[in-house]
This record gives sequence, C-alpha cells and structure tokens, in this order.
Amino acid sequence: MKRSLNQPVPGGSHIFQRIYTRLGCRARPPHFIVVYHPYADLTHTIRLRGDVAYVRLSDVLRGAPSAVVEATAAILLGRIYRRQPPPEMFDIYRQFSYARPTRQRLLVLRRKRIRRRECRPAGKHHDLAPLYERLNQCYFAGLLMRPHLGWSVRPWRAQLGCFDPALRQILINQRLDEESIPEYVVAYVLYHEMLHQKHPMRFMRCRRESHSAEFRADEMRFADYARAIKFLDRFPAATRRLSLFPV
Ligand SMILES: [Zn+2]
Repeated sequence: MKRSLNQPVPGGSHIFQRIYTRLGCRARPPHFIVVYHPYADLTHTIRLRGDVAYVRLSDVLRGAPSAVVEATAAILLGRIYRRQPPPEMFDIYRQFSYARPTRQRLLVLRRKRIRRRECRPAGKHHDLAPLYERLNQCYFAGLLMRPHLGWSVRPWRAQLGCFDPALRQILINQRLDEESIPEYVVAYVLYHEMLHQKHPMRFMRCRRESHSAEFRADEMRFADYARAIKFLDRFPAATRRLSLFPV
C-alpha cells in the first residue's frame, strides 16, 4: 500500500545524472530512483544507500517545468556532494516555491495532509486566550479572528512561536510557559504571531524577508517591545527566531 503513494518522476533518473555531472562530480554516479512523494509541504529528500540514491520529491513539483526539477536536483545533490549549484538554479527554485500558485497549492495540501493536534491555550503558568483577546483589542481593534491557540507539545529548539495559516493555529514554544518568563515576553511572542495573521506572508517562512516594513513598524508599536527583546536575548540565538513556519 505504501508504494502506491510514490510515483516515479518521468525522466527523473536522467535529470539527476545530468545534474550530477553538471555540478562537477567526477565519481561514477549512483543509480537514481526518483519518485514523487505526498509530503505535507515543499520537502524533498535524498538518501544514499550503497550505489543507489533514493530521491523523493514533493509532489507539488508534479507538472512543474523541467527547469524546476533540475534546480531541485542541483540543490539536493549540492547538499550531499558539497557542490555549489549555479546561482541561477537557486533563483529558478526560489521563484517557483514563492510563486502564488505554488503557495496556494501548498496551503490546500497542508490542510488535507496534516491533522491539527488538539491544543489548549491555558498552559501551566500562562494562558494565551485572555492574552490574545487583550492584544486583539489593544492593537488590532478586535478585528483578528482568534485562531487555535496552544503551546508546543515539546520544547522547541529553533523557534519561539509559529503561526500556521493552513491550520489557523498559533503555537508558542512551551519553554515560555514558565513562572520565570514575564507575561510581557509571552505577550510579545504572541503579538508577533498575530502580526503574521494581519500581514499574510508572501513566503510563509518566517525569514527576514517575510517581515515587511509595515510588519516591522507594527511590531515596534508593542508597548514592551524593547524590554521583551532584551529579555529574549538570554535565549540561544536559534531559539530567538520567531515563527519558523515549516513550509
Ligand atoms: Zn515572524
């Protein structure tokens, strides 16, 4: 049954062999088995086992121009063989993955393929529900639709919070649900995620470019902004990232 999930990528093996050579890999190429896999996001994986390379491409690439598949191959192969893919291939991939139709398709797929875990806004020390209401009234004129609110099931290492538009959910790192964490810090992280609700991201991922100038300006309006940032400085840099959205 599991096999039927994966469908061969037409010409996939040839594409990977060609790109392997183009990247300047000299050893004999592995035998490439390339399939589409129904990931819930734009994930692609490659595993080397002996002289076989198992490649799974997100099925969002199905129907994409062959240049996009080639660019994906270059990025994947570049990673495992430590080669630098040509910059134009990165551009092709980036343009495809940020394009509105791709994003739209990913949103629909995610809704279908990911089941939202039940979560509760009330943690051990902080309750996100009243906090959300207060921030909504104070900064958004009460106009935001309350999404599902909750704490991460496990402590996250790489992010403080996350807004997932497909699941209409804001999760906050459970490491912030501590007595030692002042409420204004939790409020700031929640406020940041609420801003993602207000400013739909062009790229979904919470990278610097997903925070527009308007987003940044709004963020500064938070009354305890400077204090919260200062407090969060004590967290390891990786954890200080806000909403690294996994798409
Ligand atoms: Zn963000």
